[in-house]
Amino acid sequence: MCRLAHEDTIIEPFAPALKGRYEANRWDWSHGRHGRVDFATRMRHASEFALELVRGANPEFDPDAPVPLIPVAQLYYRDVPDLPWPEKFDLLQILWCPRDHSGTETDTPHCPAFQVFWRKSETVKGVLTVPPQPDLGLEHYIPNPCVVSPEVVTEYPNFHTLPDDIKIDIDAWEERSSDGTDYSSEFAHAPGWKVMGHGMYWGIYDPYPMTCECGAEQLPLFTADTGEFDGGTKERWQPVEEAHTEWSFADPVEVTIGRGYALQLYYCPESEQHTGRSENGLNP
Ligand SMILES: [Zn+2]
Ligand SMILES: [Zn+2]
Repeated sequence: MCRLAHEDTIIEPFAPALKGRYEANRWDWSHGRHGRVDFATRMRHASEFALELVRGANPEFDPDAPVPLIPVAQLYYRDVPDLPWPEKFDLLQILWCPRDHSGTETDTPHCPAFQVFWRKSETVKGVLTVPPQPDLGLEHYIPNPCVVSPEVVTEYPNFHTLPDDIKIDIDAWEERSSDGTDYSSEFAHAPGWKVMGHGMYWGIYDPYPMTCECGAEQLPLFTADTGEFDGGTKERWQPVEEAHTEWSFADPVEVTIGRGYALQLYYCPESEQHTGRSENGLNP
């Protein structure tokens, strides 16, 4: 359950049946059938209508009650052998609350909030046939169900964190290649959903150390991205097996973080008990 404070710009019903009615009304708002109103007012009307629908369908609905999380990724050590702590756990389950949050010391604001569960798969018993669902959510934080086909790729550190002499060499190497070769987007950071790797290509501000309260540097564990590749990264990062599929698998998950960013979850390599952090940035 999510017990954090929510700061929704807009909120939509989670249940598909209510969602249909909500979408129909949103069309009315966006086409001015409710009069000419500014964007913020329209968003407020849309959110109020979502609440009205949810209250109508569930008289018990309490907007202040903890919110059930939804599944985002389930990875087994046998499929992703670079996951940390194989001697203790063989299953990583990542869930999030599909709404915007006001942010905490370790969570980035205006993003879904992660929760991470390390498990031993042999102890997972009594799986629910109908998992609890939240009443409200944002469509672009609700991933399409997907099967993953993990592929190992090599990433390199963020350019800004490299020693000066290496930066100079990379600049010169980019300069020499006449085809616009780019270290960050073509070599350092693989776009798309991934585990581990290096910190992403920070777009809004420069990278800064992700330090755990124990003093250790936290490392990327999981990245939720807006799409698998785009026009700038397709040529380099689209899987060769999918080369003939053009754009069909450019965005199978259909999650959008901000205006096309990625949300990266960091973990402390010292202990699974230490609180992780999430950071929003470009990838790449
Ligand atoms: Zn939440
Ligand atoms: Zn730590």
